[in-house]
Formats: sequence, C-alpha cells, structure tokens
Amino acid sequence: MEKILKPIQHALLYFSQPDERIYYPYLISSAIIAALLFLTYNKSFKGLLTYVFPYKRLIHISSLNDILLLIINHVINVVFFLPFLINSILLAYLIQQWMNDWFGESGIQISDTEAIVYYAVAYFIISDFSRYVLHFLLHKISFLWEFHKVHHSAEVLTPITLYRVHPVESMLFQLRSVFIGGLVSGVFLWIYPYSITPYVVWGVHVGTFVFNLLGANLRHSHVWLSFGKYVERIFISPAQHIIHHSNDPKHFNKNMGSELAIWDWLFKTLYITKEKEDIKFGVEESKEHRSLVKIIFQPFGKVFRRKK
Ligand SMILES: [Zn+2]
Ligand SMILES: [Zn+2]
Repeated sequence: MEKILKPIQHALLYFSQPDERIYYPYLISSAIIAALLFLTYNKSFKGLLTYVFPYKRLIHISSLNDILLLIINHVINVVFFLPFLINSILLAYLIQQWMNDWFGESGIQISDTEAIVYYAVAYFIISDFSRYVLHFLLHKISFLWEFHKVHHSAEVLTPITLYRVHPVESMLFQLRSVFIGGLVSGVFLWIYPYSITPYVVWGVHVGTFVFNLLGANLRHSHVWLSFGKYVERIFISPAQHIIHHSNDPKHFNKNMGSELAIWDWLFKTLYITKEKEDIKFGVEESKEHRSLVKIIFQPFGKVFRRKK
C-alpha cells in the first residue's frame, strides 16, 4: 500500500518540484506574463483577477480529470514501469562500451567548457526532435491517435493539461526519454570520457529553467502569447500550441513541436499565428471523456474493435 501512497503523495507535490513545469515559480512567472498581456491590451485592471486565475476553468470537469491523470501516470511510472526498465545511465555506459569496442577511443580533444556546451546543445536538439517524431506518429498512426486523443479531448486548457495523457502515451514518452538520454550521453561519453557538470539552476538544466520561466505554462491556457512570424519558425510559442489543440479542421495536425518549430517547418506541419484566433478545444470524444473510466478504457476498446 505504501508503494502506491508514496507516489500519490509525490504527484501531489509537483508544484514544489523544480523539474516539473508546474513548479510554483514557473506558474507565478506565467501569471505575471498573463497579467502584463491583459494590461497591455485592456489598459484597465477590471477583470484582471479572473483572467489570471480563471477559477471556472480550474474547477471544470476536464481540469479535474487532468489532475487525476497526472496522479495515475505518476503512480504507473513509479510502481509498475520504472523498476523494470533499463535506465539511461546504464544504457549510456553500454553505448560508450560498444563504441569503444567498434571504433577505439575517439581521440577528440575538447575542453571542459566546450564539452558542456556541445553536450547541452546536442541533447536539446536530438531530444526535441525525438519528441516531435513521437508526437507526429501519435497523430498519424490511427491506433496511436486513439490514445493521444485523450490529450486533445481537454475542453479547457490549464497548465495541468500538460499531464493529461493516456498512460500508454505517458509510457511511450518515458521510453523515449530513457532511450534518447542513454543514446546521447553514451555517444558523448565516447567522445569525452570525463565527467562534466552541466549548468544547473535549482537542480534543473539552465535551458529548461529559462524555458519554463518564460511562460511555458501559457501553452496550456486561454492566454494568447505569440512570438511573431519570424521567431515562430524557430521556437513554438504558447499561441502555436493552443492552435494545436483547436477543433477547427484547418488547425488539425499542426504545430507538433515541443520547443523548436523547425521540425514543423521542415515537415510542413507549421502554422504561424497572426492575430488572436477564437479557438474552441476538444475532439468528438470530449463529452465522453468527462468520465475517467472512458478516458482510460475507451482507446483500448476502439483499437480492439478496429482490429476485428
Ligand atoms: Zn497532439
Ligand atoms: Zn497540449
């Protein structure tokens, strides 16, 4: 029982974990950006509080299911999945070993500082690309789409909607993270076989810290923050992810990138925002997905029926 209760407790404390996007300083910075945007466009304080804290959205059944999915996915990962999984560090050492066996020592001479920078940049780009590829497959392969629909069935977006994913999708992203972490670190250990300490703030990588502080939580919100037509070809803005959740067919399968927009640009799935659009969220299943039981089991049922 304690094995289950502890992870539940941990999931409820995501607000206090610097490696989680809903860590409270990141939420506060997003709230400040939202307030500044409101004041810029409205030039009045009237309605500011409900804009920044939209309590009706926060207590919507869709948001309550987001919270339950956060807890369920965390428990499944900690209790059932991670203990049986080869971890990134072990995989990295195995890959380093194989590369040494096949190619011999790399003999590449770089300084400590260069090593930290190259590793951080390589990891960021490869990891972001792998997230794009997985997200693309979740949209394009019909049985995977049944599971990914859970994220798109959200009727309102709040920062916790980030965690509204079916456990199958959550596991696929876990696998991706272990595999990419091990692969990049392993190749890098072969190139530079000394320990390096990445630049961290509050224990998280400086890039993640800056990204989260710059309003990453607004991607799942009603706040429209676009970066303009030039920057949106390089980085995904919160407004571009809001477009990704739209139920308008002209927005379907657009903006599947996480942080970089260049993959969407390259593979022709990019949608650049212009003026603020009136977006409605959800998919056909949204009403049914007000039930947690349906959220969890309906995708399996649909996949099974299609197979018959
Ligand atoms: Zn999607
Ligand atoms: Zn989303």
